[in-house]
Amino acid sequence: MRLATLAGRAVVLEGEVALDVEVLTGGEFGPDTRSVLDSWDRARGAIAARTGAVAPIAYSVDELGPPVPEPRQVFAIGLNYVDHARETHQPIPDHPVVFTKFPSALTGPASPVELPSAGVDYEAELVAVVGRTARGIDETEGWDVLAGLMVGQDFSEREIQSRGPAPQYSLGKSFPGFAPTGPALVTVDELGDPGDLGIRSWIGDEVLQTSRTSQLIFSVPTLVAYLSSIVTLLPGDLIFTGTPGGVGNRRDPKRFLRPGEVLVTEIEGLGRLETPLVAGRRATA
Ligand code: ZN
Repeated sequence: MRLATLAGRAVVLEGEVALDVEVLTGGEFGPDTRSVLDSWDRARGAIAARTGAVAPIAYSVDELGPPVPEPRQVFAIGLNYVDHARETHQPIPDHPVVFTKFPSALTGPASPVELPSAGVDYEAELVAVVGRTARGIDETEGWDVLAGLMVGQDFSEREIQSRGPAPQYSLGKSFPGFAPTGPALVTVDELGDPGDLGIRSWIGDEVLQTSRTSQLIFSVPTLVAYLSSIVTLLPGDLIFTGTPGGVGNRRDPKRFLRPGEVLVTEIEGLGRLETPLVAGRRATA
């Protein structure tokens, strides 16, 4: 199943059309995504049962919002691919490096994103969506806790991110639009091996990042187990799982994002984000 948000309403995407969840379930779930995720197992069943007479809606991708517009918690993982940890000259971590992206940074899969400086970087990421309240989850049950997966970008303003005296990732990664996700939340049963998906990003014919999610240092189930050993995971929570090597500020010369470019981020089986980049207001000092 591919769950998305169209005009603020939860929809299921099927080929070229969208089906409204509230209509599809005879009013039992919807209109928003939160009501679906809060009762994920029952909602999935109701969506599959299709009791309501639903009319397919034609849509274009740029009308879609983030599949989970208002998560209560957004976790993000740093240094979670070996080639990325190496390019940053950091040791391979013993434990996941965890920070947050504030939910106001979320935007849709084809929404324009303003660049507040000439130092904004790209980070293609697999995003896991939590499907139930979870605490103390064993790694072997990690996938069962999830509603699904989606494509994400962890846009990062590198100067603010690296302001000392201690690293503070969250603010530099939370400008408006710095967390595009989508185009849909895809349930794991749609994927052959959900732990081994090709991930790529590019601008025009310039490939920026290419890897596979099997290269994650801490896999998705391991991250679920680790996070849930400390905090309570809630339905709709997002986990940005980290980015592969090839980020712009570790290239020589550095390669930051420029207004007028369109950044494409794709994950096998999940779809792609196409993000037009536009000039934005400069960040204050
Ligand atoms: Zn990241």
